[in-house]
Amino acid sequence: MARKRVFSGARPTGHQHLGNYLGAIRNYVALQEQGYETIYCVVDFHAMTTSFGNLKEMTKEMVLDWMAAGLDPEKSILFVQSSVPEVVELAWYFSTITPLGRLLRLPTFKEKVRAQPDNVNYGLVGYPVLMAADITLYKADIVPVGVDQAPHLEFTREVVRRFNRLFGPVLVEPEILYTEFPKVLGIDGVNKMSKSLNNHIEIAAPPEEVRQRVMMMVTDPQRTHRHIPGRPEVCNVFSMHKFFSPDEVERIDQECRTAEIGCVDCKKLLAQNIIDYFAPFREKREKLAADPNYVWDVLEEGRRRAKAIAEKTMEEVREAIYSVK
Ligand code: SF4
Repeated sequence: MARKRVFSGARPTGHQHLGNYLGAIRNYVALQEQGYETIYCVVDFHAMTTSFGNLKEMTKEMVLDWMAAGLDPEKSILFVQSSVPEVVELAWYFSTITPLGRLLRLPTFKEKVRAQPDNVNYGLVGYPVLMAADITLYKADIVPVGVDQAPHLEFTREVVRRFNRLFGPVLVEPEILYTEFPKVLGIDGVNKMSKSLNNHIEIAAPPEEVRQRVMMMVTDPQRTHRHIPGRPEVCNVFSMHKFFSPDEVERIDQECRTAEIGCVDCKKLLAQNIIDYFAPFREKREKLAADPNYVWDVLEEGRRRAKAIAEKTMEEVREAIYSVK
């Protein structure tokens, strides 16, 4: 039986942070190891709806992080969206069968308008159409997403059903696979971890930087003195311990509630565990980065493999569209 195909894309954002790792990369690696046919794409066309800045550099650093974290170009196709331009052609066909009102009503579009009111470009409205083309061009069976991306995936499924109804059963309707750790808060303890809010901790950061950033993390606001018991369930440091300190998490929970442990010691422990967790990652990254061509060679090989799939899909798509009487 053919292996199920997984597709996911991420904007080129350079060095990855804990939110990227826990919310996406870790899951990418798990799916790769579970025997799916995995395709991971750097979606630079999508990034352009916000900014054109440093796309090449951002791509290189992100893909280095991906590979150092376990994505294996022998097992997964890693490539850049714009290197297979067929996606734009498919997006165009989709745009002609998509009601504009449907796109304007998407909550993600409204959020983007709020986030960048001075740059509400045409690409921003068409973003979900291009995303539908990304997924369907490679006939993905499964798309792993966080809850915030779910409306886009539902939209993709609708587009596929509409296309197949109009032109015949050419495209695959993808299933949604929710990621296990969908929202990672930043060091402010309030907002989702993000570089633009400068509340992030990079996974390739040197140990001293990790320590500094962890020490800045907001804890339970009620714990204003060392002797006041804390509430781990409202503390972001504790959420991180759940992942990085599995053997100590029960003890921390108890000692926080009884004020036996202070926030400074609790954070020091977390910082050390994060540093230890990513030590093999940092070592591997350094080795991969030593060859400046390596990332580009991997992405070129990925482009070749992705293009072969895309060309086949587009032959079927064109055949179906141009057969309409
Ligand atoms: Fe959070 Fe740890 Fe402080 Fe408790 S002791 S409030 S879990 S940082």
